[in-house]
Amino acid sequence: MDEAQRADVVVVGMGVGGEEVAEQLAGAGLSVIGIEHTLVGGECPYWGCVPTKMMIRAGNALAEARRIPGLAGSSTVQADWAPVAKRIRDEATDSWDDKVAVDRFVGKGGIFVRGRATIVGPGRVRAGEQEYVATRGLVIATGTAAVIPPVEGLADTPYWTNRGAVETETLPETLLVLGGGAIGLEFSQVLARFGVQVTVIEGGDRLLSMEEPESSETAAAALARDGVKALTGVRARRVSHSDGGFSVELSDGSTVTGEKLLVATGRAARLGSLGLETIGLDPSARFLATDERMRAADKVWAVGDVTGHGNFTHMAVYEARIAIRDILGQDGPPADYRALPRVTFTDPEIGAVGMTEKQARDAGLDVQVGYTPLTSSSRGWIHGPGNDGFIKLIVDGARGVLVGATSAGPSGGEILGALSVAVQAEVPIATLKSTIWAYPTFHRALDAALSNL
Ligand SMILES: Cc1cc2nc3c(=O)[nH]c(=O)nc-3n(C[C@H](O)[C@H](O)[C@H](O)COP(=O)(O)OP(=O)(O)OC[C@H]3O[C@@H](n4cnc5c(N)ncnc54)[C@H](O)[C@@H]3O)c2cc1C
Repeated sequence: MDEAQRADVVVVGMGVGGEEVAEQLAGAGLSVIGIEHTLVGGECPYWGCVPTKMMIRAGNALAEARRIPGLAGSSTVQADWAPVAKRIRDEATDSWDDKVAVDRFVGKGGIFVRGRATIVGPGRVRAGEQEYVATRGLVIATGTAAVIPPVEGLADTPYWTNRGAVETETLPETLLVLGGGAIGLEFSQVLARFGVQVTVIEGGDRLLSMEEPESSETAAAALARDGVKALTGVRARRVSHSDGGFSVELSDGSTVTGEKLLVATGRAARLGSLGLETIGLDPSARFLATDERMRAADKVWAVGDVTGHGNFTHMAVYEARIAIRDILGQDGPPADYRALPRVTFTDPEIGAVGMTEKQARDAGLDVQVGYTPLTSSSRGWIHGPGNDGFIKLIVDGARGVLVGATSAGPSGGEILGALSVAVQAEVPIATLKSTIWAYPTFHRALDAALSNL
């Protein structure tokens, strides 16, 4: 084995979180080794946020053209997947090549290693035959991978995860989707808009089960309008595959078939074979527990999906910045997850921040709820077809502040910005009520939701 290579910091996993830490610390003058076994940038730019939102942009344009008032009936649009696949290949992912990202890191003085890293002791990491030593700290940012549920037969079939669905250049005629969470629903709706007959299989009793029940109803109605068949309260019992495609036997005894099968049943942290036991951490843990400075152990920081605080790019970057400050010995606010925003990019978009009504009640708060449908707002009425959505506010009556909110609608994710500020900064409800909301925006529906409290 070669002599160990030393650096101030070794970053394991150069996805969203790891790349942010590695680049910023290298830019700050530290010696940084970044180790990545697949693509620098991780899931988000190559198989996650970016390509899926490009698909959704295309699907939404199609849907809008089909329903726009004044054109409906007289306009014809032709769905064509080829330009979407080309855009994902050429613009989003450079044909799944990370040269630009690697060059950016190296350009900041970082040392890049392509390989699978294993931790072999405090501050010591191995990739291939080479050992690397971190004198100041080790950062674990290995992200998550799609969970493949233990359904009989499934593992032996050529199922898709998000990666297969993003990489496909041609669309199947029919698609089965296991899982009715955000990822499953985003793919389902967009592919349905491109003519794929989609069936969603969700074991829980509603889609988007982590969000408000009104969000589930809104998503279910939107998917139904796009021709998606969503089965809830049924589980896949057995999966088989033959030349004709997939056959899934369900817990209610029925069978559904599809040319392709997308597994979207959640994500699991990539921790199992990382060597965590060599630094006193539990290799069987679901996530890496951290303190409010993202420390997982002495001289070990963890950021992003692996910490279990939410699988979002904005979360990975948020945690990376806290770890960066701590590694550099700078002061700054500790991690605070009260105002975690999340958006399901279906049409309508479903944005949410902070607590749901149930979470607030379970926490024993003096809950007040304000609700307004978007259809009854001025902008919703002007918008016409495609105006589904609502705003729901969750208020802690004792303190007079917002602790959670959902905004579903054509710009649900954008309206969420104002709500995130209100939850994070604990803006008094009285202040929100006396705020002037521009007419006729979608966010002006906040005024009605506040009056409804
Ligand atoms: C379909 C889909 C859509 C999404 N859409 C959104 C969205 O719209 N908005 C949003 O905020 N989030 C979205 N996400 C989530 C987002 O992609 C993740 O939260 C984000 O990528 C997490 O960053 P990370 O750095 O923690 O992990 P990752 O991006 O997963 O990066 C971890 C990296 O570590 C590497 N690695 C793992 N183990 C090792 C090892 N032992 N040695 C070397 N390298 C290793 C991996 O190869 C990977 O590149 C989406 C995810 C999916 C799957």
